[in-house]
Amino acid sequence: MAEALIQMHNVNKWYGKFHVLKNINLEVAQGERIVICGPSGSGKSTLIRCLNRLEEHQKGEIIIDGTELTSDVKDVELIRREVGMVFQHFNLFPHLTVLENLTLGPIWVLKTPKTQAEQEAMKYLERVRIPEQANKYPGQLSGGQQQRVAIARSLCMNPKIMLFDEPTSALDPEMVKEVLDVMVELAEQTGMTMLCVTHEMGFARKVANRVIFMDQGEIIEQNEPDKFFDDPQSERTKLFLSQIL
Ligand code: ADP
Ligand code: MG
Repeated sequence: MAEALIQMHNVNKWYGKFHVLKNINLEVAQGERIVICGPSGSGKSTLIRCLNRLEEHQKGEIIIDGTELTSDVKDVELIRREVGMVFQHFNLFPHLTVLENLTLGPIWVLKTPKTQAEQEAMKYLERVRIPEQANKYPGQLSGGQQQRVAIARSLCMNPKIMLFDEPTSALDPEMVKEVLDVMVELAEQTGMTMLCVTHEMGFARKVANRVIFMDQGEIIEQNEPDKFFDDPQSERTKLFLSQIL
């Protein structure tokens, strides 16, 4: 069997004395799509932020595409190139146009020539269906459009893995679908390896190979979506699902 693209072995993390991740074991194969859910404060963001080293773990092992995450700076740069991230609050640069937001990383990090970077950026803007917004500033766009720019920006770096941290939870309800549609397309058309923290259960059923439920820093239960939603095993999962469904 091929080695998993993401491996977490007995990963533990503390914020001061607070034990936020407890013995996390998780392997994700290339092309797999994982949805992570769980109550607020259960460690979901911390877990995925450890995967691109926005947070450091203190115990255990994280291996991304064969590279162990250590404090060695070179590893961090390599990993950040391979692992794209989309945040709840978009995190676009407000003083740069959409096109400039998209080409910044390719030009400065990947050393792609500007015209080529712009051509590729336009291709990704078409994929997220807003090529006509290329010369606007983020503040001139709706939340749903900004989040689609953020997704396109990640794709411009040609990542192997995409992490999404509640990408639709800051959006007005009418904009959730346009962002989820783009993510579904990304999953179905590119076979991208994706980890997505979300409570959008329709999305999970449609796209995920596996749904993981976290509570109080632990992975409590995981299963394929239909089994996870229709026949949850743990009482904590049942309680959580009864509150969100
Ligand atoms: P989730 O994404 O599931 O809501 P988080 O991973 O954001 O959970 O947070 C898990 C717990 O860790 C929460 O109790 C939160 O208050 C705490 N926490 C998160 N970030 C920090 C930090 N930088 N310093 C201290 N505590 C933190
Ligand atoms: Mg979170």
